[in-house]
Amino acid sequence: MRLLLFVSALLGAAGCMETFSGDQVLRIRASSDDQIDKLQLLETLEHLQLDFWLHPSNPALPVDIRVPFGSLQAVRAFLGYHDIKYSILIEDVQGILNEEKQEMISNQRRERSNSNFNYGAYHSLESIYTAMDDLAAEYHGLVSKLQIGESYEKRPLYVLKFSTGGPDRPAIWLDAGIHAREWVTQATALWTAQKIASEYGTDPSITSLLDTMDIFLLVVTNPDGYVYSHTKNRMWRKTRSKAAGSFCVGVDPNRNWDAGFGGPGSSDQRCSDSYRGPHANSEVEVKSIVDFIKNHGNIKAFLTIHSYSQLLMYPYGYKCTEPADYRELDTVGKAAANALTSLHGTSFKVGTICSTIYQASGGSIDWSYDFGIKYSFAFELRDTGRYGFLLPADQIIPTAEETWLGLKSIMEHAYLCIRQGFSSWKTLRKLWLEDHHI
Ligand SMILES: [Zn+2]
Repeated sequence: MRLLLFVSALLGAAGCMETFSGDQVLRIRASSDDQIDKLQLLETLEHLQLDFWLHPSNPALPVDIRVPFGSLQAVRAFLGYHDIKYSILIEDVQGILNEEKQEMISNQRRERSNSNFNYGAYHSLESIYTAMDDLAAEYHGLVSKLQIGESYEKRPLYVLKFSTGGPDRPAIWLDAGIHAREWVTQATALWTAQKIASEYGTDPSITSLLDTMDIFLLVVTNPDGYVYSHTKNRMWRKTRSKAAGSFCVGVDPNRNWDAGFGGPGSSDQRCSDSYRGPHANSEVEVKSIVDFIKNHGNIKAFLTIHSYSQLLMYPYGYKCTEPADYRELDTVGKAAANALTSLHGTSFKVGTICSTIYQASGGSIDWSYDFGIKYSFAFELRDTGRYGFLLPADQIIPTAEETWLGLKSIMEHAYLCIRQGFSSWKTLRKLWLEDHHI
């Protein structure tokens, strides 16, 4: 083990990356509310430097924690003392990271030799931005690139616009990668971009949608965090904003929206991974999207992509009451999840944020829904914990393919609502099923 740690440390040191040698991801199964309370207590023990991938909320849901090598003994003792059951999901986090790095290097070599962008690989921000330019050039007249702002560290926030022309058209908003380390989401968004572009004129449903509506796609919502997750710390989640008087950097940008800001499921501690920030919209990445959506004024669906857990969620997260459109959102969400599952059999759970995971305040889809965008959904992509945030690259394409069917299902519903002038959504669903001979 000691030799392994030494080799891993050397590998990491070569790229100045933080290493996670010997760290394990534990899956914990609490069997009572009392055990959940104990796990919540564990979360407050800062000296253990635990990284909660899934937070304790209720005994029905697992709790996943990346435990640094140095804290393993203490955590095992804590769990044993309180008779809390657990298993090991990842034996050595650094081992997975080394494989991931190796795969990226091999892919770079392949891409250089055949000059083909591989959508089934993880890429740097620079490569993603170049691929977006290439798409806009290849599909000139359909795809264009807009800059909606710049990040804290002054990186451009680029949105791909899919449009067949015409002013003041209703539109669909899509974003990914608000949490930096959820790498399958940025990769899925980029694959989705080429899918939308290539389906126009081929797939009747996307063609008629784009003849009426625009689609805006923000592939990398948190570019500073994404770059940091490639160059310094693969586990980085937050933005990279700094505050005077604190060593801790960054805000959780999905606790920073003006929707129940500061409520349960967000932290006021700067060092916490779910730190909400000093005030709503303090993060320029969030503020840029809010301004864009408000200025546009005609966004009909707001879809955001996260990982992991395989969930399709709708509001609310900041409160545990059902939204006014609960029945419709639940029906639309279940239809989307069924479409998604139909491809590779990947199961998705559907429900409000509060009922599927836990109460979480200041999230984007709560803001968009309260702003008046009825079709506000958040996807949590693969997997259910085998690899968590470290999903191997060979799962990117199947993940993107299945996610596309879910996204498309929701977009089609939004489109039908516009086409039919928002009569009854049940009638619309029936029309859609008839249109598709289902
Ligand atoms: Zn996330």
